[in-house]
Amino acid sequence: MNELHNALSRQLKAVVPNEEFQAWFQPVSFSVENDEAVVSVPNRFYEAWIKDHYLETLEKAIRTAENRPLKLRFEIKPLSPEARPKIPAEKYKTSEPGQSTLAARYTFNNFVIGPCNELAHAACLSAAERPGKVYNPLVLYGGAGLGKSHLLHAAGHLIKQRNPNAKVHYSSLESYTNELIDAIRTEGVASFHNKYRNMDCLLIDDIQFLAKRERTQEELFHTFNTLFEAERQIIMTSDKLPREIHGLEKRLVTRFEWGLLADLQPPEEETKIAILQNKALEKGIELPRDVAFLLAQQPETNVRVLEGYLNRVIAVSRHKNRDLSAELVKEVLVPLLGERQITADEVMKLVSHEYGVRVADITGAKKSRDISLPRQISMYLIRRLTRLSYPEIGRLMGGKDHSTVVKGVKKMNGLMEEDHEFARKLRNVEKKLMEQSRRRIGELTES
Ligand code: ADP
Ligand code: MG
Repeated sequence: MNELHNALSRQLKAVVPNEEFQAWFQPVSFSVENDEAVVSVPNRFYEAWIKDHYLETLEKAIRTAENRPLKLRFEIKPLSPEARPKIPAEKYKTSEPGQSTLAARYTFNNFVIGPCNELAHAACLSAAERPGKVYNPLVLYGGAGLGKSHLLHAAGHLIKQRNPNAKVHYSSLESYTNELIDAIRTEGVASFHNKYRNMDCLLIDDIQFLAKRERTQEELFHTFNTLFEAERQIIMTSDKLPREIHGLEKRLVTRFEWGLLADLQPPEEETKIAILQNKALEKGIELPRDVAFLLAQQPETNVRVLEGYLNRVIAVSRHKNRDLSAELVKEVLVPLLGERQITADEVMKLVSHEYGVRVADITGAKKSRDISLPRQISMYLIRRLTRLSYPEIGRLMGGKDHSTVVKGVKKMNGLMEEDHEFARKLRNVEKKLMEQSRRRIGELTES
């Protein structure tokens, strides 16, 4: 390691608590390039965390070490597979049913990391390694089937593995609510309190269902406060940002955003391939690359649905005693797909192209007319051509709320009737989307 690295490590060690130094600076290296101090971090999560917590400390240390001000630049240098934290697989088989609410099948070992989820993964891993210490609460958010629940269980397993006595509890918000209702009905609220407020780690899945549930919100508020004050780890998942959960009390929104919000994005093709191959391997099947590739090419981003395709193909292959091949995939999938073919992403891509704006503008917050029109057109087309609901569309479009989407679609319906030129152009865009999708189905059937 170079001089700057050694000097900085020494200085940081002097001011950063040892545990945090190990966690955040051990995998980081520093170097000087021209007039820049380069900080190499394993992923963007480290960058965000260091910037949030140690930017000043770091800048000061650099000034001292180099005796001149240097510009700070972060650079991502992924850890080699060997250097990544490893957790032996057999450890996970220990969760006895009835005792633990954790699902044995969801672990860090079988979670595939890609650019779409590395932030959430790293966040969960850190939370599980130092429960209650690095940030609290951790909220994972993202669309359906992107791996939120998987990571939540994985964190629970790891905490249990490191400390078998830890009281780790997983609960969906639904079952938390039901349990609370039961407790109220049977006058068992005191033991309900007792149970939840004594956890070492509380994992709550799908908190978007807190919407409009006042009694549950009230209860969770107290659970949260007790656990938080005792530095117990809280991890939650949601399909939207806390502040976008309709009717979620302000005091909960604030608390949920105290710690870290980590998002999961739809998987890229490469990640989809790796996930599918991994899922097949879990069933003892080596999935040929072309088969995985064909499945991953589907615009579907919900991993649960992709897994469904895979299972179906595997079942047919067993049943008909046929090899797993691209050909078989086509036979099985074509009848399954049909209407599912147009995705919100495709709509936004084409609309942005046709109307000369960027997709980022469509999903962004700018309100000028040249952007809000293509945005509303996207809403209208997505609503027409996919099965997405208004809230889902809002979320995909950068977290707009449900009523914004309803308004947008309504407005476009009005314009379609009044303005023939507008209507013609829009129908044209729609036609292009349909053609794109038909071509894709065609490729599946013909090639
Ligand atoms: P969510 O809670 O976000 O709706 P889940 O965690 O239930 O999604 O994931 C849906 C399915 O997809 C699960 O079977 C999960 O194991 C799988 N899955 C999602 N992402 C990954 C990934 N990165 N690696 C492995 N499996 C994944
Ligand atoms: Mg889930």
